[in-house]
Amino acid sequence: MATERKEIKQPKPLPAPNADFYEFAADLPAEELAIINRVREYMETKVQPIINKYWVEDSFPFELLPSFKELGIAGSGIDGYGCPGGSPLLVGLMAMEIARTDTSFATFFGVHSGLAMGSIYLNGTEEQKQKWLPPMARMEKIGCFGLTEPLVGSGTAGGMTTTAKREGDTWILNGQKRWIGNAPWCDISIIWARDVADNQVKGFIVENKTTPGFSVEKMQNKIALKVVQNGQITMDNCRVPDANRLAGATGTFRDAAHVLRGTRHLSAWEITGTQMGAYENALKYAQERLQFGKPIGSFQLIQELLAKMLGNIVACQCMIARTVQLEAEGKLSDAHAALAKAFCTSKARETVSWARESMGGNGILVDYNVARHFADAEAIYSYEGTYQMQTLIIGKAITGFSAFV
Ligand SMILES: Cc1cc2nc3c(=O)[nH]c(=O)nc-3n(C[C@H](O)[C@H](O)[C@H](O)COP(=O)(O)OP(=O)(O)OC[C@H]3O[C@@H](n4cnc5c(N)ncnc54)[C@H](O)[C@@H]3O)c2cc1C
Repeated sequence: MATERKEIKQPKPLPAPNADFYEFAADLPAEELAIINRVREYMETKVQPIINKYWVEDSFPFELLPSFKELGIAGSGIDGYGCPGGSPLLVGLMAMEIARTDTSFATFFGVHSGLAMGSIYLNGTEEQKQKWLPPMARMEKIGCFGLTEPLVGSGTAGGMTTTAKREGDTWILNGQKRWIGNAPWCDISIIWARDVADNQVKGFIVENKTTPGFSVEKMQNKIALKVVQNGQITMDNCRVPDANRLAGATGTFRDAAHVLRGTRHLSAWEITGTQMGAYENALKYAQERLQFGKPIGSFQLIQELLAKMLGNIVACQCMIARTVQLEAEGKLSDAHAALAKAFCTSKARETVSWARESMGGNGILVDYNVARHFADAEAIYSYEGTYQMQTLIIGKAITGFSAFV
């Protein structure tokens, strides 16, 4: 009698969640890919395990700063001045990778490396770059960027109320700034103020910890990007030497706009990372969570949500892949950056809400790593120029008519 050999069928291993569906990072040269992999490992092993606790507590994980500095990535994209350099694609992928784990951490880094260091790099004199960029690249000095005011947000170009008055070799700054990321604890504030003599907006490097009259109140009760410490700055006759005025560019609002063009574009990368994090966590949950005796990921309606999320993510990745090419060719315009920011942030609101929805009740619990992305996407939709402001920039470029009021 023939003996029957029954094979025990092992369940097929499930695909690991991977939001890089079109193998986006594969275009990087090996040495840049190694940097991205190092950043990813850092975010997954050091940041992910503790970030929900800090997010809930509204506090910044200072315990991470010594190890984060070791990555040596501050000032990426800037050549010289102790900065690591790197291609626009590398800089974008880095922002995306950090936000994939935590959008607050990406914002803290973006404010320091993009907005503050970028202001000095693009608008500073040679001496200012030599003096300030190396310690900022080593993250011995952390920076912030003070443009928005309590009464003037979208309208800062024409309506800025903070004033700068020159007295000999000194400038006297008066006014308030609101929403300023990193301000409650950083060392260097880039402050934009209106010169009372020529009515133009100029940038100043303020050593905020040692400048009398400079005070910061931490903003409380945010529901998004809770790890980033935002501050309301008050300047009461702050005296800043003329050597600290960003004098390497036009001395007008165009200097701030120049910085924002690059960082808006980076916000599009960040928000794409936010979507990737939400999608990957939702997919993992769908593979594990059982209802009616089956993984919810086997239900058609859940698969539809996941496929729609991935479609949004890939659309954003393809768009920003092109914008970095334009940037590398020196062709990235304000309207190009505005379209990337407007499109990616509006798609992100869909993606994170589908991720949340696909997880049922657990989608609103921070512990499941989607609720944080869900909330944080709201802030990016509005910061560095709201969706409406980006739309007006695009509208003006394509129609030839300015609809700004
Ligand atoms: C988490 C977070 C971090 C931030 N970090 C910084 C920072 O580090 N440094 C900094 O300087 N700023 C920062 N900001 C400020 C941010 O850039 C502003 O919130 C943003 O520019 C919008 O300004 P507002 O909030 O004053 O809104 P408002 O300008 O008051 O706008 C309110 C609404 O009106 C709409 N609106 C305004 N004008 C028009 C118009 N002409 N046509 C149509 N719609 C219009 C807007 O789109 C928006 O929907 C941050 C903000 C947030 C939320």
